[in-house]
Amino acid sequence: MMDHASALYDKKCSCLHCGTAFTTKRVRSGALAMLKRDSDFCTYYKEQSLNPIRYTVAVCPQCGFAFTDQFAPRLSPAHKKLVAERIAAKWTRKDLGAERSPAEAIAAYKLAIYAAELTGQAHSVKAGLYLRLAWLYRFEGDAEEQRCLQQAVDEYEQSYIHSDYALGDKDMSEVRLLYLIGELMRRVGKYDKAIHYFSKVLAFRGRTIETGMLQMAQDQWAQARDEHKRQQQKREQPTTVD
Ligand SMILES: [Zn+2]
Repeated sequence: MMDHASALYDKKCSCLHCGTAFTTKRVRSGALAMLKRDSDFCTYYKEQSLNPIRYTVAVCPQCGFAFTDQFAPRLSPAHKKLVAERIAAKWTRKDLGAERSPAEAIAAYKLAIYAAELTGQAHSVKAGLYLRLAWLYRFEGDAEEQRCLQQAVDEYEQSYIHSDYALGDKDMSEVRLLYLIGELMRRVGKYDKAIHYFSKVLAFRGRTIETGMLQMAQDQWAQARDEHKRQQQKREQPTTVD
């Protein structure tokens, strides 16, 4: 097992806004021992402080523009002007390129989400940021997770409608995306929509090699249906006041 310091390395970056060269920490994949994975693909490692999602976002220490490898490689002149006014002008120089605490990782994601919204990044890119931020809150037991899951699923739904899902994550297939939307809808309590998306996954039966996704959709569809029923029963029960 590698020690902490050697599990992290410095990755060279160049700021997409101001061109400043800087380094940011990344996790060596060989350093990771996986513990478990949630039904929305949130992955836990033996050493959670080495969870790679803590280091996905690079933050330019000079101007404060925060981005990931999935951002479009160039900013338009109009977007540069916005970044200059709304981000760089308000930034006080600080370095998030060293080892990050959970709070620093969360701060980096908030900066990246703001930058992504401001510069019109693809829905899939924004969705990925919101989902990973939700996971960071989950690790901390913070109720903010729900709000981020809601924003993630809204962006993934847009990503599905606009078919931009391959831009944010090269491993994202249509079947996987449909499953993920269904599962996130279930987690935010939108059971009708969850069931709708899970049935879209199941319609791929016989047309996909991703049979694992079909099985997961089957299981989570059953769970969503049960939770939906319980929710309706609760609503129908008259409330008693003592
Ligand atoms: Zn910069």
